[in-house]
Amino acid sequence: TETVVSYARSPLEQLEPSRFWHTFSDMNKVVQGPKFVVSEAQGVWLWDDNGDRYLDGTASLWYCNVGHGRAEIADAVHRQLGRLDAYAVYGDFANAPALELSERLASHAPVADPRVILTCGGGEAIDSAAKVARQYWAVRGRPERVHLISRTGGYHGLNGFGTSIIGMDRFRTGYGPLVTDTSVVAHDSIEELEAEILRVGPERVAAFFAEPVIGAGGVYAPGPDYFARVAALCEYYGILFVVDSVICGFARLGNWFGIERWGVRPDMIVFAKGVTSGYLPLGGVIVSGAVAEPFWNEPGHPLHHGTTYAGHPTCCAAALANLDILEREDLFTASREIEVQLDSAVRTLATHPMVREVRSGVGVMAAVELTEEALAAGITTAEIFQESRARGVVLRAVPTALLISPPLVIAWEQIEHLVSTLRASLDAV
Ligand code: PLP
Repeated sequence: TETVVSYARSPLEQLEPSRFWHTFSDMNKVVQGPKFVVSEAQGVWLWDDNGDRYLDGTASLWYCNVGHGRAEIADAVHRQLGRLDAYAVYGDFANAPALELSERLASHAPVADPRVILTCGGGEAIDSAAKVARQYWAVRGRPERVHLISRTGGYHGLNGFGTSIIGMDRFRTGYGPLVTDTSVVAHDSIEELEAEILRVGPERVAAFFAEPVIGAGGVYAPGPDYFARVAALCEYYGILFVVDSVICGFARLGNWFGIERWGVRPDMIVFAKGVTSGYLPLGGVIVSGAVAEPFWNEPGHPLHHGTTYAGHPTCCAAALANLDILEREDLFTASREIEVQLDSAVRTLATHPMVREVRSGVGVMAAVELTEEALAAGITTAEIFQESRARGVVLRAVPTALLISPPLVIAWEQIEHLVSTLRASLDAV
């Protein structure tokens, strides 16, 4: 017996209506129902405030790669808070954890002569990368090179530039004018990318942004030669190639930044999430030496960009302890094994009458896409998500698919439990 779920309202929920505004939510609906209050977590398990247990099938929001409740990360954070809680790193200020983390990330990055910008999360890192790209061209005497190209289904956070280049319309609309000089091309088409470069004019394109495997947009892996051709195209037209490894990094694809699987070396890599396994917020951009060159080696080009908490020593200490776990337990190899197990288990759902497609097999991530008939008949992924959670497994619902991305410490029996629960949930709606 995995889980007994009670729908009883907890003491916390008696406080309704609360004033807490849930993100990514229709508050009009959320405010009416009970909240799902997560109280504790350990390994791949969560407990709500009724004491009921759930399998974390998504590593929270794609980030808890080492699993929950790691005492050594908590200890590292505690030690760091006791020594130096925080001090900002503008100007010539630095701190030991930020310096060490930057060296360590640089040593593993498939980027030539790398430099590291630290941020508080992925969206901030995307904005940093976009600003570095545009300013790089400006200081190189090419201020007209501002255009940013991204892909359908690409998710790049919801800061200013991220909102402007995201490949999902629902995140872009309703805010008036966004950053201009951006466009979105099909995620799997080199031809469309090149046509767009030529339409805009190669001399006006600053950078191309892509996730190794599209995550929040529905788990779409690239074709085998896609990234080699992207890298060649970007090099040919002199366009900066920015890889968004926020989901794919830190062993989710069995390596450091995901993109290594396709053997290319981008100009910048954006990271977040798995760098700390989410224990504390942290992200950043790894920038090639060539792009950093005018800022680092030529006088008079300071980057007027940064945030109060960039390089926060306590967040960096959490990252260092997290990377220790990834390396010591070799979660890179474990991830490759889980990838195969998850793929074999989740593919058994492909023949379910409500399933149009299962996408999996590259990294520890999978999507189970519903048929058009099921969606047209009014079945929603949100209902299936609710059914699954009521049975003790937390998944993620996007408009047409259920997404799976467990911690990289999940065992085979737990993968089987996850998939059989999803099957039962599909049967139930
Ligand atoms: N890039 C990718 C690929 C993401 O999946 C996300 C978040 O889900 C982001 C960027 C934004 O990161 P954050 O939510 O930390 O701003």
